[in-house]
Amino acid sequence: MKRIAILGSTGSIGTQALEVIEAHPDQFSVEVLTANSNVDLLIEQAKKFKPNAVVICDTTKLAALKSGLESDNIKVFGGAASIVQLMSMDTIDLVLTAMVGFSGLAPTLAAIENKKNIALANKETLVVAGDLVTKLALENKVSIYPVDSEHSAIFQCLAGEMHNPIEKIILTASGGPFRGKKKSELANITKAQALKHPNWTMGAKITIDSATLMNKGLEMIEAKWLFDLQASEIEVIVHPQSIIHSIVQFQDGSMKAQMGLPDMKLPIQYALGYPNRLVSDFPRFDFTKFPQLTFETADEETFRCLGLARWAMEKGGNLPCVMNAANEIAVAAFLRDALGFLQIAEVIEATMNQVAFESQPDIKAYQESDAAARQITSQLIQKSDVKI
Ligand code: NDP
Ligand code: MG
Repeated sequence: MKRIAILGSTGSIGTQALEVIEAHPDQFSVEVLTANSNVDLLIEQAKKFKPNAVVICDTTKLAALKSGLESDNIKVFGGAASIVQLMSMDTIDLVLTAMVGFSGLAPTLAAIENKKNIALANKETLVVAGDLVTKLALENKVSIYPVDSEHSAIFQCLAGEMHNPIEKIILTASGGPFRGKKKSELANITKAQALKHPNWTMGAKITIDSATLMNKGLEMIEAKWLFDLQASEIEVIVHPQSIIHSIVQFQDGSMKAQMGLPDMKLPIQYALGYPNRLVSDFPRFDFTKFPQLTFETADEETFRCLGLARWAMEKGGNLPCVMNAANEIAVAAFLRDALGFLQIAEVIEATMNQVAFESQPDIKAYQESDAAARQITSQLIQKSDVKI
């Protein structure tokens, strides 16, 4: 029986993880659930899965959480610092990090320091401070199991291959809702259009990241740290059907790919159940229904975020952290109609050029870079002359 803490249980990954856990009551139990502000769903989940403790980050909702769970024997906490503190609970076996953005970094570091294995969905943690996170994991003999479908694919392809050198990996990208469109067609697109992903249903931030291709950029950096790769060993290819989830090429030229219908429950279940493959009733892939699996080069001229992420990955230091912070602010602004779609890449690039570069940041320097980048991007967004 694995006892699981789900950080971000009310989100897209969190709710699907609870579906996986519900289908395998003999394998998993829930130890901790956390949300940012969705107190109603958190109460509902807590009553159903009976965790030891729950946390709501937004402390204005703490009273509502307490009163909703007053007849249940569940510890109730408020504030992000409580999540960090709970990571020392000795009844947690595995922590699923399914929060969004930089907010996942502190609890992930705390979980690793407390020797908890990680099922990692929160890719921004590795983008921001991949060097610190992977070094700490190695020191504490902690495993990081990828949840992101592409990285789960690579992890699955590497089973039994750990001592065979990788020549390269190829991350597949659906291309998002605007695949094939040129810059001139994207100037006036709305958030409703950008939130319609062709193949996946996900939280708002990652859905916009998928539309700009920043998601694939973040995933390149995530892969670099998870699989200890050089930037030159990581490629991206657009595969609109999202059936092949990624590919590993070995030094003999042989390629292994992992495939299946696009359903995040599969990589979530693989990460939670590792090293075992558990039974599932997820719909099965049928070749005859997909007579064509196609592949094309990503259009980096239109989707500039991919190139920005490659620059950040190659340069390293605090640049990926700065890029991530700028992206979080820019996406949030786009989602409240304060920034145009094409301006997202513009303000990220401008921020990356303005924050002082640091080649070997420690955690404090990462926090400072994140704060500086957020401030600069916010100012750029406020200025009306930020137009393409
Ligand atoms: P959602 O927006 O659907 O859910 C995010 C969860 O984190 C919610 O529980 C939310 O609480 C909580 N949360 C949000 N912000 C904060 C914060 N500042 N502090 C504490 N908790 C917070 O996101 P997704 O589930 O889509 O994504 C989660 C992570 O997984 C992201 O890093 C994403 O990139 C990654 N991922 C997601 C995939 C997907 O299919 N969705 C696929 C691959 C990776 P509340 O509900 O109260 O707002
Ligand atoms: Mg992915």
